[in-house]
Amino acid sequence: MTQTATIGFISLGCPKATVDSERILTRLRAEGYRIRPTYEDADLVIVNTCGFIEDAVDESLEAIGEALAANGQVIVTGCLGARAQVVREAHPEVLAVTGPDALEEVMAAVHAQLPAPHDPFMSLVPPQGIRLTPRHYAYLKISEGCNHRCSFCIIPSLRGDLASRPIGEVLGEAERLVEAGVRELLVISQDTSAYGLDLRYRLDFWRGRPLKTDTAALARALGSLPAWVRLHYVYPYPHVDALIPLMAEGLILPYLDMPLQHASAPVLRAMRRPAAAEKVLDRLARWREQCPQLVLRSTFIVGFPGESESDFEQLLDFLRAARLDRVGCFPYSPVAGAAANALPDPVPEGLRKERVARFMTLQAEISRAKLAERIGQRLTVLVDEVREAEVIARSYADAPEIDGQVILPGAWELDPGDFIAVEITGSGEHDLWASPVEGL
Ligand code: SF4
Repeated sequence: MTQTATIGFISLGCPKATVDSERILTRLRAEGYRIRPTYEDADLVIVNTCGFIEDAVDESLEAIGEALAANGQVIVTGCLGARAQVVREAHPEVLAVTGPDALEEVMAAVHAQLPAPHDPFMSLVPPQGIRLTPRHYAYLKISEGCNHRCSFCIIPSLRGDLASRPIGEVLGEAERLVEAGVRELLVISQDTSAYGLDLRYRLDFWRGRPLKTDTAALARALGSLPAWVRLHYVYPYPHVDALIPLMAEGLILPYLDMPLQHASAPVLRAMRRPAAAEKVLDRLARWREQCPQLVLRSTFIVGFPGESESDFEQLLDFLRAARLDRVGCFPYSPVAGAAANALPDPVPEGLRKERVARFMTLQAEISRAKLAERIGQRLTVLVDEVREAEVIARSYADAPEIDGQVILPGAWELDPGDFIAVEITGSGEHDLWASPVEGL
């Protein structure tokens, strides 16, 4: 055993898994454990896994195998942990396996193996907790689980039905993050528009004020903090209309990440998702009228079982009409345990890839044209990274890690987390180029 109980921690998966990792790390540090990002020099290793698609399962099993080979003492948590038999079949020697969002179970497994050291100096944890993102932005998880049952997805069976955090608790965490230097809060969940539904939108308190636990109240309250607020995973339900005025007022960023998945009614029905592409187009048009600077990001699945050429053409027509700013497109890939695996008429792999390529060619033209429209605009950007000969920043239109960047050529005396005014001077397919200007 090392002198101070030391834990190696490996975090895989999506932002929701990152938040789970941050909670576990925060508790470990609060109890006095030392943390290492490696397998060596640790008394045991925790691997937070992802189990969403088969590639992620393979990567997680590989990481567990490496940890076992290098260290021998391994606790597994996270989405793949919800399928404990898969983990145990591949690696019977792991110490414990828990599912996602299982802080107490992970801590119990750690305590059973390695008692907490009780060192008062090591126990000092910053009030905002331990984070895995850079200091100037942070993910804020507002709920866990999902009430939908999309046929391609196993999240509800991994993470259960929607369970929202009371609004006072979420706002308290947001305040602590901002006090610790966070300049951008990224609101995440499986379905941000459903926030509070399971709690019947019950009243909670923040700064002594009663607030309803719902998306609009949360967005308005977050908007009162001195940080950018960006909403992810918002579905185009009617009550989302209430968020657009908050964007037009500048309280939250005029940016919506809205996973639409498809535009053809039969495919959406087979996916078990609301099927109304025209209604989505009407809604987007209304939102853009109310808030012209609104930026929309979405993701789509191409080659879903039963998708005909005409379904796919409808999707391309939708893209042409919607002119979304940022788009991700994935070829359909079966996920073990998903209902969609039983659907007839699979699309051959070659055709899936070909459709993804056609989709991306069309969207690249749209993105390039939309970015070119920004040349000459003045925008506020948030600095992510300062290099020797350029600064990498983002505007309100770019979420970290998934969207583009605003690149400022040259050496500038700036720090990550600085907000500066720039003028856009050039554009490509994903990124913009800019020069600093006097404040906006
Ligand atoms: S894909 Fe569907 S079921 Fe899965 S988390 Fe999203 S909304 Fe819920």
